[in-house]
This record gives sequence, structure tokens and C-alpha cells, in this order.
Amino acid sequence: MATRVDLDGNPIMPMTICMIGAGGFIGSHLCEKLMAETPHTVLAVDVYNDKIKHLLDPPPLEQHGGRHPWDGRIQFHRLNIKNDSRLEGLIKMSDLTINLAAICTPADYNTRPLDTIYSNFIDALPVVKYCSENGKRLIHFSTCEVYGKTIGSFLPKDSPLRQDPNFYVLKEDASPCIFGPIEKQRWSYACAKQLIERLIYAEGAENGLEFTIVRPFNWIGPRMDFIPGIDGPSEGVPRVLACFSNNLLRGEPLKLVDGGQSQRTFVYIKDAIEAVLLMIENPNRANGQIFNVGNPNNEVTVRQLAEMMTQVYAKVSGEPALVQPTIDVSSKEFYGEGYDDSDKRIPDMTIINKQLGWNPKTPLWDLLESTLTYQHRTYAEAIKRAIAKPVAS
Ligand code: NAD
Ligand code: UDP
Repeated sequence: MATRVDLDGNPIMPMTICMIGAGGFIGSHLCEKLMAETPHTVLAVDVYNDKIKHLLDPPPLEQHGGRHPWDGRIQFHRLNIKNDSRLEGLIKMSDLTINLAAICTPADYNTRPLDTIYSNFIDALPVVKYCSENGKRLIHFSTCEVYGKTIGSFLPKDSPLRQDPNFYVLKEDASPCIFGPIEKQRWSYACAKQLIERLIYAEGAENGLEFTIVRPFNWIGPRMDFIPGIDGPSEGVPRVLACFSNNLLRGEPLKLVDGGQSQRTFVYIKDAIEAVLLMIENPNRANGQIFNVGNPNNEVTVRQLAEMMTQVYAKVSGEPALVQPTIDVSSKEFYGEGYDDSDKRIPDMTIINKQLGWNPKTPLWDLLESTLTYQHRTYAEAIKRAIAKPVAS
């Protein structure tokens, strides 16, 4: 591999990365990228490894003496960071720790608030502590949900100020974090993530921890979550991409929670991973920073997302779109008591642009086309078999 250089022209030295949560959606894409394009070694920590099996046990190659370019550079460590003393050793062996481990599906925030808070705050504490005590760099995954609701959402519905970006664009160093009341347990996740961000920031300020905090804004793509009843529990409720994919695969209408009026910006996982790689390889530009990572140009309401996914799926599957593609459902029915929602999420891109020169590239239609092609190829047959199978009596 030719010498690779960072954004300042300095050669990039191979490093060892302890990646916690490497078996998840983002982790699997990050592992792929690091194996395909860099000389770095990954100690992949997770309780599951299905999404990185193709890297851990790849079929032998015909060329290159049967070896893959990443042979020996990825090791899987099956451990639960809640209760495993091997974690500190792995962090000590590494130059950098990336923590992705979390409970991060909204259906859990109000129904399993204790697990959500423990996972996103308590379980992350030792990771921060080991990095700080051993002088190791940490890239910690937080969330855009730390912003909560926009200031604009509290203005009267007809206020012209709602159109003013000062009332809705989310800025790392200026926007407040606005959550609902405690009984709206939806915010347990956002609040736990906010507190771990504050703790990491304080470790940086008081003890010199070298950290970067990432706030993903709805990263989506292949391998996100699971399809209920196929590779996850039948009653499970994944994030919106997988919920809508599941409906499309089964030929059922897509469920719009509370009218599907909330707005989101979706970024393609492969664009977002480019940003993470820049953070990994440019510590001087990334340390001490909090970065929004999203695509402000890909904004839709959830209703528009459902309509676009319906059209894209008809194109990639060759099956006609449903006559009635969506149905309305209340949040109480869909998520249970204590659900609440972020109204709108537009990331400000100034800081990541200035520090890392990163910009998202892929338009929403294109990223849905490649993602739904993957969903169709991966699941359509299994769904047909599941539907055809008589229910056990
Ligand atoms: P994911 O659920 O696919 O991945 C998380 C992984 O962490 C899973 O493989 C899980 O098994 C593992 N994990 C959880 N608890 C663990 C434990 N105690 N020990 C070992 N492994 C454990 O989620 P993702 O989408 O890849 O998200 C990764 C991170 O990014 C999370 O911190 C999440 O809060 C954050 N995030 C993601 C998005 C997004 O758009 N995908 C948005 C906001 C925030
Ligand atoms: N949503 C929906 N139908 C579904 C799943 C989700 O209308 O089947 C809505 C949800 O209420 C939220 C948005 O889609 O407004 C995005 O949900 P997601 O689970 O992706 O997480 P979030 O962006 O809220 O973190």
C-alpha cells in the first residue's frame, strides 16, 4: 500500500483500534472501510459478530496466495462491556478506542428506560475512565438526539420565525439541549448521552483526555438493525428504515406515527464513514471536538420518506406499489406510553467542514435505491418463505 498522508500531508502510521460495538450497523461499515483502505488493526469488541462475519471468516481468495489484504488485522473479542475485566487490557493494547456500544432504538427508550440509561451512561463510564487513566485517545459515539427539540417548535404554529434557520439549525457549540418532562421517558436516551458527553468533555478539561464526540444524524444503509421475524424478534421494533423496509418486503402499508409530520435528514452510511475515517487519521484536527455528522440537504418528513421508499422499492423489486401505501398510527399504539419526538433535525456543518473538510455526497433517492436493493436481495426470499409457512398450532 502506498504511503497514505493525513490532511496536513504527514504520513499516517498504522494503529491499533479497540472498537467497542464493532458488530453493529456503524461498526460493521467502519471495520470494512478500515480493512479495505487502511493498514490499521481492529480489536473488534461486541456480543454479536454476524454483521462482520464476512471480514472475520472470509471465503479464501483465488489470488494473493489465498490471503485477504486484511488477514490478521481484525480480531473479534466476544465480550459484554458491562462485566468483563478484559476490556481494560484491550484498551491498553490500542492507540485509539472507538465506543459505539449502546441501546439506540427509540422503541426501547420509553419501554426499557433503565437498560437505556445504563447502556448509554453507566456502561460507558469505565471506557472513558480507562482511556483517561491510560492516556489513550477516545472517539465516542453520541447522538443528534442530545439537541432534543428545536427552539422553533415552541413558537406559535403560524410564526414566521419558524422559517428562520436560527430557530432550528443545530450547532454543536451554540444550540441548547431541549428535552421533554421526565414522564416522557423517550428522553432517557438523549439525557444519558448528554451526561456522558459532559463527562468526557470534563475529562478533557480536567485530566487532558484526548477525545472526539460524534453526533450522528440518522445514518442509514445496508445492515441497519433487523427485519422482525427474519433476523430479529417478530415483535421487535427497529428504527424507521428497517420498519419501512419490513412493511415493503411484506407488502403491508407503512405505519406513520402521529401523522408522519416529524422531519429528519438522512445521510448515507458510506458518506458518514468517510467522516469517521478522517477523525481517526487526523487527531490534531479532531481532538477536543464535537462533530455533527449528517446531510442537511436530505431533509424529508417521515411521510415523504415513506412515499419515496414506496416508489424506490417498486423500482428495485419490480413489484407494483400498494394502492394504499401508508396508514396512520398513534405513537401510544406504536411505541407505548411516554413516547415523544424530535420535530426537526438539520445539522450545522460548519465545524466538521472547517476541521476535516468533509461534506456528505449522496442524495436521498440514490441512497434509498442502493439500500433497498440490498434489502430486497437479502430478505425477499426469506420473507416469502416466512409468509408461506403455516403458523404452528
Ligand atoms: P447498533 O445497535 O447497530 O450497534 C451497537 C452495537 O453495540 C451492537 O452490535 C451491540 O451488540 C453492541 N453493544 C451494545 N451493548 C454492548 C455491551 N454491553 N457490550 C458489548 N457490545 C455491546 O447501533 P449503530 O446504529 O451502529 O449505532 C452505534 C452508535 O452510534 C450508538 O452509540 C448510537 O447511539 C450512535 N448513533 C447512531 C445513529 C445512527 O444513525 N445509526 C444515530 C445516532 C446515534
Ligand atoms: N416512525 C414511523 N413509523 C415507523 C417507525 C418510525 O413513523 O414504523 C417515525 C418515528 O416516530 C420518528 C421517525 O420515524 O418520528 C424516525 O424514527 P427512528 O426510529 O429512525 O429514530 P429517530 O430518528 O427518532 O431517532
